[in-house]
Amino acid sequence: MELFAVPDLPEIAPGDDLAALIEARVDLSPDDVVCVASTVVSKAEDRVKTLDDFPAGPRAREIAARLESITGEEKDPRFAQAVLEEATEVLIEAPFLLTETRFGHVSVNAGIDRSNVPGGDLLLLPKHPGESAARLRAGLTADRVVVTDTCGRPFRHGQRGVAVGWAGTPASRDWRGERDRDGRELTATVESVVDELAAASNLVAGEGAGGTPVVVVRDFEFGDHGGSDELFREIDDDLVRQAIREWRFEG
Ligand code: GDP
Ligand code: MN
Ligand code: MN
Repeated sequence: MELFAVPDLPEIAPGDDLAALIEARVDLSPDDVVCVASTVVSKAEDRVKTLDDFPAGPRAREIAARLESITGEEKDPRFAQAVLEEATEVLIEAPFLLTETRFGHVSVNAGIDRSNVPGGDLLLLPKHPGESAARLRAGLTADRVVVTDTCGRPFRHGQRGVAVGWAGTPASRDWRGERDRDGRELTATVESVVDELAAASNLVAGEGAGGTPVVVVRDFEFGDHGGSDELFREIDDDLVRQAIREWRFEG
């Protein structure tokens, strides 16, 4: 397996045909997986906004004031408003905003970025990254597309790439029913392949000014396994999220 960044992509602007820009720069094969940072998908889909697009309501003002008093940092209530509008549920209100988005992804600040965004203050995640992945796939020679974002993790310091949308591949491969080296049957292992591809591609894409938001994964074989598109847990099936719902920051 080999990973390489698509070279010389320009600054992406609303309306840009990302698939055509990629096709013009790399000779893809149907078997490739094209991993695309959500940042550039959002730019192409005109998800660039300014703070003024989000006049703060009472709840956003309340949240921002509380965050400001806890953290001692200035918090713009319009940013809190943007997060509320992008979120289907606020799981944690303080000391930071943890939210679920409309497509099931749980992340800090509804995944809204304030870096790598020229000409605007905020970059929202694509509305439906799975649909974005499918559209990109339709314009690419490659049959598999993963839209990624850099995200923090519970239990660990640091961030890594995760999949927020995908097309042409199942989200995970199912090892259950197969045997380990001692002949024991695997009963729990469902491997989140799209997250692993996202993490690997994020490693190549980098986080700063590198300008390499699209990474090709070549010769990755999914193999002869069952697949599933389940990635985001439903609340009934998510004990950690249930516990967080009950928890409240005292401070
Ligand atoms: P995110 O992880 O999807 O939030 O995206 P990042 O902001 O971390 O950017 C990922 C990579 O894409 C970095 O190497 C950035 O320098 C690069 N990048 C971001 N926007 C653009 C763009 O419009 N054009 C190009 N060529 N690179 C970009
Ligand atoms: Mn991001
Ligand atoms: Mn990133």
